[in-house]
Amino acid sequence: MNKEELIKIWENFCKKNDFKLNNKEHVEFIAENILKIEEQTGLKLCPCRLRDGTRKTDLELICPCNFKIQTNWKEFNRCWCGLFIKD
Ligand code: SF4
Repeated sequence: MNKEELIKIWENFCKKNDFKLNNKEHVEFIAENILKIEEQTGLKLCPCRLRDGTRKTDLELICPCNFKIQTNWKEFNRCWCGLFIKD
């Protein structure tokens, strides 16, 4: 999967929900980083949170994560990385 394909999936994900993608430059930066992490780990993991090496944490860090439960979402209207923002 390339960057454009990944962003397209995120755009479709947003269509059914009450959030949208951040600006193009930021979204492309996140996408590039997630694809780099995927090359190293085989998983599309969050680029702004730390792994602890366990499978359990890795599963929680697969993007998109369950970001609506995050304090960041409730207080700042964005996921940790600012990939998704409240519409
Ligand atoms: S915080 Fe944002 S970028 Fe990170 S995994 Fe969750 S949705 Fe993806």
